[in-house]
Amino acid sequence: MSPRERVHAALKFESLDRVPVSGMAWTIGAMAGRFSTKDYANSAEKMAKGQIAFWEKTGVDLLHPTSDMGQTAEGWGVKMRYEENLTPMLDVFAVQEASDWEKLRVLDPRKDGRMHVTIDAIRQIRKDLGDKVALMPYVPTPLTSATHVCYMEQVMMDIVLNPDALHIGLKTMAESIVAYIEAIMDAGADGALFATTRASAEITTDEQYREFGKRYDEHVLRKLRKQDGKNILHVCGVTPHFQLLSEYGNANGINWWDRGSNLSMSEAKKGFGDRVCLVGGMDQTTTLILGGIEEARREAMEAIAAGFGDRKGMILAPGCEISPHTVFDNVRAMVLAAEEHGGN
Ligand SMILES: [Zn+2]
Repeated sequence: MSPRERVHAALKFESLDRVPVSGMAWTIGAMAGRFSTKDYANSAEKMAKGQIAFWEKTGVDLLHPTSDMGQTAEGWGVKMRYEENLTPMLDVFAVQEASDWEKLRVLDPRKDGRMHVTIDAIRQIRKDLGDKVALMPYVPTPLTSATHVCYMEQVMMDIVLNPDALHIGLKTMAESIVAYIEAIMDAGADGALFATTRASAEITTDEQYREFGKRYDEHVLRKLRKQDGKNILHVCGVTPHFQLLSEYGNANGINWWDRGSNLSMSEAKKGFGDRVCLVGGMDQTTTLILGGIEEARREAMEAIAAGFGDRKGMILAPGCEISPHTVFDNVRAMVLAAEEHGGN
């Protein structure tokens, strides 16, 4: 199987030669290519080179060409701050008061913000690597985007105090995100790593997420021309609304922090393994940064045993973006463990 076929088959619950591997490598692509994070965030050529360098160092099956949260948010007027060797940070928010939600406009992914960096990087990587890799860039959902253009605390307050204004903003952002995903698909992506990051109980209640999150997430997923389920939801946090996310159509995978949240890989396999491709298994906060290759190998083998007993429906991955200081050989150890288990 080519790496691209392997990832597709995992998301379709087909039998696999081995578990596919993702490194959740976003900003670290800059380090892999020896670029500053600012140059990487602003140049498609550097993003493509950095992602390919990460792929060469690790051998992962799935890449997520992404720089930072500002790629979309900047289009709505957010100002960024750049510091050496750090992910570019959101600095000045565009939505300061509730009436600002109504002033957001639908973005053109080719012109607004820095979405064009990822779009053009995908075209380049696909041209250079063909089926040797699957490509799913990080794309924020409408509610996640809301927390990139406005302080999260204020978004949470607007859910209670100004729901009508917030709904107008979410609708505008949803239309922009549909256009962005269509553009990355046209450039050669396989799907989106759709960041439903606020679907966790320490941020939203189940009911709040259904009204302000799921409703718009599903609108986006339903409007896409491609309806083959090859999208992965990404949820951060320690109490993810996993049940709610498992109900989504056109997104067969869920990436979550199984090592740090209240849902382990083996529990997820038991409860959701027949309908969700489980994307996780590795701890990005400890093992991949501080552990050696032997520890990474052991953790990978344990995850594979917990989630891949039937040889389908799993992608071995960290639970969130890996730190720019992650050791490349530890990610390589994940791929070696997958190959060793698969008998290759
Ligand atoms: Zn995350």
